[in-house]
Amino acid sequence: MTNDYSTLSVCTTHLTLVGTYRHKEHRCPCDPGGDGWREREWAGYDIAALLELCSLCARDVMKSGTRWSWLGCETCRSVNNAIATAINGEVHPGNQILPLGRHSIMNGIAVGPGALRSGDLTEESVEPLASFFEFSKRLIGWQQEEGRHLADRGGFAGLDRVPLDDWSAVNPVSVGASVDAFCRFVEDDDVPDLRELDDLREARHAHLVRISR
Ligand SMILES: [Zn+2]
Ligand SMILES: [Zn+2]
Ligand SMILES: [Zn+2]
Repeated sequence: MTNDYSTLSVCTTHLTLVGTYRHKEHRCPCDPGGDGWREREWAGYDIAALLELCSLCARDVMKSGTRWSWLGCETCRSVNNAIATAINGEVHPGNQILPLGRHSIMNGIAVGPGALRSGDLTEESVEPLASFFEFSKRLIGWQQEEGRHLADRGGFAGLDRVPLDDWSAVNPVSVGASVDAFCRFVEDDDVPDLRELDDLREARHAHLVRISR
């Protein structure tokens, strides 16, 4: 089943999806008219959106609305998992390099209730949580920066809003695009030089050739 996204647009500044989708009003912070819509439309939701653009590749649409939703699209998550699995040398569904779960628990990060109750919060025990918050903050900036590049490259420079269908047509989802975003995010020249990752390396190469034309 393909989804109908024809009512949605991308805010090229905030990378938010705006418009009405499944009878829910999706707005951007740059929309005028205060914050009342949030309570009106989104009571009971953790996130005021049913859909968002992937935080890493800024290309694919992903399900949102709850704190248990992912920060990365399916393609980016599978790339993230494949690289972790290759590095760790074992298949484990929770393997990942980037903590792409929106909730820290999804990334296996938790400060135990025991530590919370006893007030025994050492620097060591909160460090994983602190670095996850740092990561989350960086990812928001990354997505907006990435979005600006995609907007420029797609010929949308100067437009505040771009129909999502146009955005997706010009910036298609691909394994290569996800690998490329991943490598640049972690500031590595390429995926690790492991035979299991040859396909990802080649997919990225093909992507780079495609966008250089
Ligand atoms: Zn906006
Ligand atoms: Zn993605
Ligand atoms: Zn830039």
